[in-house]
Amino acid sequence: MPELALLGGTPVRTKPFPAWPIWDEKDVEAITRALKNGKWGIAPPEQSEVARFEKEYAAYHGAKHGICVHSGTTAIRIALQALGAGYGDEIIAPAYTFIGTVTPIIDVGAVPVFVDIDPRTYTIDPAAVEAAITPRTVGIVPVHFGGCPCDMDALLAIAKKHNLWIMEDAAQAWGAQWNGTGVGHIGAAGIFSFQSSKNVNAGEGGIVLTDDDDLSELIRSFSNCGRSSQGVWYGHYRIAGNYRMSQILAALLSVQFSRYPEQHRRRESNAQYLARKLAEIHGFTVLERRPQVTAHAQHLFIWRYDRDAFGGLPRAKFIEAMHKEGIPISPGYSIPLYKQPVFLEKRFDPKHAAQRVDFGSIQCSATEKACAEEALWLTQPILLGETSDMDDIVAAALKVRDNAHLLLER
Ligand SMILES: *Cc1c(COP(=O)(O)O)cnc(C)c1O
Repeated sequence: MPELALLGGTPVRTKPFPAWPIWDEKDVEAITRALKNGKWGIAPPEQSEVARFEKEYAAYHGAKHGICVHSGTTAIRIALQALGAGYGDEIIAPAYTFIGTVTPIIDVGAVPVFVDIDPRTYTIDPAAVEAAITPRTVGIVPVHFGGCPCDMDALLAIAKKHNLWIMEDAAQAWGAQWNGTGVGHIGAAGIFSFQSSKNVNAGEGGIVLTDDDDLSELIRSFSNCGRSSQGVWYGHYRIAGNYRMSQILAALLSVQFSRYPEQHRRRESNAQYLARKLAEIHGFTVLERRPQVTAHAQHLFIWRYDRDAFGGLPRAKFIEAMHKEGIPISPGYSIPLYKQPVFLEKRFDPKHAAQRVDFGSIQCSATEKACAEEALWLTQPILLGETSDMDDIVAAALKVRDNAHLLLER
């Protein structure tokens, strides 16, 4: 049996996985074009890189409107403001997500209500959503986690029954589809992130999509100093920030996005191959993909680790051994969001409505398990390589499993 790299043996792999970001002369040309144009901020529509990207991105998802801003977190904030979320309103969100899903809820004065994920998909559990609804609930923020669309049929039915809006956090789900429809405008609105780790990346950036004309006007206003499309430049109709995207960023984003369809095909094919291979290994459960998920953005490849099948080897030790074999897997989030100091210690306005929540008493069992012992993540650049890269991941996992007893004896 080959010796584990952790015990001094030869690693399965020494070659690096694909680097990220990916760029070439086209990106340089686009940035240069925007630079030389001299319109770095606001630009007339026919010269606006931002306006062009908004149209292109919205069309790709089948949405009517796109509004670019400078981050995904900001996009959530203004979408919530435009939906009218405010003081004391309750908004339901999953406990297993990036904090950027939830801080805007606090920012607008509303109360985040954390609910559990479905352990099969790591997306928000519709039954838990329904159980969390109170007379104060105004909306749901489902997260298409890892690039996998949530069960939108179930969520839309719940929203309709209880008269709630849905604002999709599609920060990780560019081009993902539920039943053939692009995510981000299945609910009232949805947002995407272009932060540097994301599959569509310009360093920073975000966009809101919606099919609703009035909502689009409001979202635009909240991103643009409270202006109105009908009003004069120095007419301000609501308290709002300046969250506009720069033309230089949009120029880069356009070129980056032009590579997306090809990169997406590659990630999908590698992820599906890897899922089939890992599913054959006892002790691994790859997250489920429902038949309605007609496109998965594959931001994260996630599978569940069962330490009992590995002779009781703790996940941390498994990960350490995989790293030594040359496979950069991650345990993902180490604690549910509601256990972050900001919530446990309620580090926000002492008069905020969310002070009434006892975050310490929340228990979402699937989330806790994912954080503490179960989740294994691979990030998206790894899926941009060759099939043989996927084989290395599988070979390393088998090698660690077959030698697990040696790690336990230590
Ligand atoms: C990245 C991310 C955000 C925030 O996006 P930023 O552009 O980093 O502000 C929000 N939600 C989820 C699920 C994310 O992955």
